Amino acid sequence: MYNKVVTRFAPSPTGFMHIGGVRTALFAWLWARKNNGVFILRIEDTDKEREVKGSIEHIIKSLKWLGLNWDEGPDVGGPHKPYLQSERLDSYKKYAQILIDKGFAYPDPYTKEELDAFRKKADEERRPFLYRDHRPKEFGVWDGTKALRFKTPEIKIYHWNDAVRGALSAGVEALDDFILIKSDGYPTYNFAHIVDDQEMKVTHIIRADEFISSTPKFLSLYEALGITPPVFVTLPPILADGGNKKLSKRDGAKDILEYGEEGYLPEAVMNFLALLGWNPGTEKEIFTVKELLKVFEINRIQVSGAQVNLEKLDWMNKEHMKKLPAEEMQKNIFSYLPKEFQNEKLVPIIFERISKWSDVKVMLEAGELDCFSVVKQPKYDKIKLVYKNSSPERITKNIKLVIKALEKLSENDFTMENVKSTLMLIAEMEGNRGEVLHPVRYALSGLDKSPDPFIIASIIGKNETLSRLQKAL
Ligand code: GLU
Repeated sequence: MYNKVVTRFAPSPTGFMHIGGVRTALFAWLWARKNNGVFILRIEDTDKEREVKGSIEHIIKSLKWLGLNWDEGPDVGGPHKPYLQSERLDSYKKYAQILIDKGFAYPDPYTKEELDAFRKKADEERRPFLYRDHRPKEFGVWDGTKALRFKTPEIKIYHWNDAVRGALSAGVEALDDFILIKSDGYPTYNFAHIVDDQEMKVTHIIRADEFISSTPKFLSLYEALGITPPVFVTLPPILADGGNKKLSKRDGAKDILEYGEEGYLPEAVMNFLALLGWNPGTEKEIFTVKELLKVFEINRIQVSGAQVNLEKLDWMNKEHMKKLPAEEMQKNIFSYLPKEFQNEKLVPIIFERISKWSDVKVMLEAGELDCFSVVKQPKYDKIKLVYKNSSPERITKNIKLVIKALEKLSENDFTMENVKSTLMLIAEMEGNRGEVLHPVRYALSGLDKSPDPFIIASIIGKNETLSRLQKAL
């Protein structure tokens, strides 16, 4: 049926891009790239009232951040330009004329008041309001000042195939004489996307499930225009974590660029989005872009809703972070740290405790890193130096032993391994690990929970370690 796969992402510029929109873009991109096809970015800006300034730039920035690129689009041009619907009005007029000539389109003869009265009457009689019940006997000449309506050629039950959902059908109530071109001169989505997909040679329409109910309308228009419809690929809805409710900001329905600002890796977000409604049929969950391109298949897109689980995103992000080269890891972690904390020995310790870069900031603000700074002294409740059922006397004795032993290590030998074996030796001699390790850890950190004492010691160095232990005494 087609030689080359052509997909498109066709957002309306009505606000920021969130998980749902970007997931649609990703699936369309994956399918085009996987098949060495063409991926088009088309901006559907025909609803001037809903348009939000800056959205187009935002859409482009979001897609680029994720790593998606397009072969044709408003910024890069292409053989079917322009790619903003508001600049394609001539195309719509051309197709409108074809329909008029075939007797499949007519100017809406009614005023708003007349239409409202029809609607009200239908309501009172408890029947659905259908415009086609009021189709005029004779069609006037369309001069562009009135809305142009589609004359549905045949009222019949449509059956069609969806690449994800299989055989679908809908009753005749789904058909109506919908508007093709509004009185403001702009086309409706129902009309414009069909014209554009035809002109741009789109082979697969990959989009959200909200368009299923309108598909019979689309099919009757395709028929009237003599166009073979592209393959319909309907993506499953995205659900909030743990239920059927709509996605809220807390569940992840925020601006996709915020994920970038929080320090998620684009590749991890892509991995996460790919698994929202698609799975490879194996247990594998971590995918690079290359791997996704290899295994992505339309026939493994699921029908049922896909739940957003942000904990999973964190886990995936960590898995992708682990693959980064050491220098990059350090650069990112340091970017959140004041100078006094920019110690390369701290990098693995911090890395172990974060799942995205901005967690470094959270750790810092919570004071969890203070114990590693020689500028900030730990503050603590001295009674907590005493381990469980131990006594201040025993603890004092142990701290003294530790000080004495650590003093013998030269600055150069003051490594994590050496400090650790020194502490362990004393703990063994004293017969109680906790009575040695706990007071040293607490004296060095002032925290109920902290990294091991030998880790802190090796980072703050010999002088600072001894001074904190002296203070504890
Ligand atoms: N402009 C439509 C939207 O933003 C696009 C739907 C489609 O992909 O055809 O929802």
